[in-house]
Amino acid sequence: MTNLEKSLRKKGRRANSVAVIGAIFGDEGKGRITDELTDYFLKKYKKVIVYRDNGGSNAGHTISMNGKKIGLHQIGSGILHKGCVVVLGKGMAIHPIDLLDEIEEVKRVFEFQKLPAKLMIDEMAVLNLDTHRAFEFALKNRNQKTLGSQAATGRGISPSYADVIFRFPVRMRDLLSEDWRNILGEHYDLYKELIKGLSMDCSTLKVKRFNREDIQLGNKRKFLNNLEKTRDILREYVSPMYEYIRREWKSDTPFIFEKAQAIGLDSRWGVYPDVTASNCCLDGITFSTEGVIDAKDISARFGVIKSTYTSSVGKRQIPTFMEEKYAQVLRDDAHEYGTTTGRPRDIAYLDLEMLKYFCKVGCIEELVFTHMDIIYKRDVKVCVGYRRGKEKAYYRPDQKHLENVKAIYKKLKYWDKARLKTCKTYLDVQKEAKDFIQFISKETDTTPVMITYGPDRSDTILV
Ligand code: GDP
Ligand code: MG
Repeated sequence: MTNLEKSLRKKGRRANSVAVIGAIFGDEGKGRITDELTDYFLKKYKKVIVYRDNGGSNAGHTISMNGKKIGLHQIGSGILHKGCVVVLGKGMAIHPIDLLDEIEEVKRVFEFQKLPAKLMIDEMAVLNLDTHRAFEFALKNRNQKTLGSQAATGRGISPSYADVIFRFPVRMRDLLSEDWRNILGEHYDLYKELIKGLSMDCSTLKVKRFNREDIQLGNKRKFLNNLEKTRDILREYVSPMYEYIRREWKSDTPFIFEKAQAIGLDSRWGVYPDVTASNCCLDGITFSTEGVIDAKDISARFGVIKSTYTSSVGKRQIPTFMEEKYAQVLRDDAHEYGTTTGRPRDIAYLDLEMLKYFCKVGCIEELVFTHMDIIYKRDVKVCVGYRRGKEKAYYRPDQKHLENVKAIYKKLKYWDKARLKTCKTYLDVQKEAKDFIQFISKETDTTPVMITYGPDRSDTILV
């Protein structure tokens, strides 16, 4: 029996439930793992649910099929499979216009008449709108020199979530209600005032849109007219999800919880303040399902890591940056450039001090090792701890704290990637690669379940 099979039926847990969690800074390959797990379950079951509970258009999950590739943002990565139900949960921040464009993009790229999977959206999901994007821009512009972080993606995700904390969120059900013009009109007026308070005129601000040039937010009429077009199409997908999830969780339908971003970006545990606004951990699932699913009942808790390195977008100061002469080669080999901006990503060595912490606070029990093909003919450096001067130091979720710690490294033997690519089962995998996997798993107190050596569905070995 593979470790994957064992992980899916742990004693006292809900069988065939698995969470796919970014274990470091995101872009580890959660999308492709979700796609493969969907495929795995559909070989045995008629239906599988892929549930997204956090984030929104700030996510980018790559999946591929028959040589075609797409980066999904708001749609769950089971979307290419007939028999899959993709649920966008209450915990998400959903941009209606971008979402409809993304649906069209999936159909265009894979030449579908209609989506193969069924898409369902929780009426309680919070809206992410152009107003939020304009406000985020204004705030970032205002804060640039002194306060705050540069983490914002320009997608307005944190203002959407802040609306909930401030107790004036606009939700999917508001957009579909009779009274929608009033509710969203008031929302526009409020944001107009907020942006004016930051000395800007909201109607002239440019906002980001999916696959398009930045567009002007415009006046209230334009804002409402843009949204009006989405209402009839969205009605097909939006419904109350509470009873549905309750019923399905009691049935034997497999569940895959596809988390967005990563624990290193969670605002409580990540490298604050360069973090994201949503809950990147397991407990986000309990929140999103309004307590129907106790995250402690989820059987398999997969943390996904890039095996030999970590990439990071933004201004993070992390202790394990790789020497630039190596980083540049790796960046080109692994295409580590921002998907929308083309900006080179920062490359760092795998940091076990962080990973151990993230596995602990994130309740990760298994590890998925992606990018095992990104390996060179030199020992693999892994950070095994920090020092500050002569003292031992620890990871703490704070950038300032991390700025002055020094990484301590251990070197592990490299493996031959060409040989790895010929392996059919874990038994065939060479000793050096297995030793690496064993070492990381032991240090993090987790079980290895899958390794991947390329971006395609077939480039995977179950442990
Ligand atoms: P996510 O956000 O965690 O879903 O990850 P992304 O899709 O943003 O980034 C992962 C990138 O690595 C994508 O371009 C994938 O196609 C690619 N990828 C995934 N697994 C592997 C692998 O094992 N090897 C290599 N070379 N690339 C991979
Ligand atoms: Mg990504």
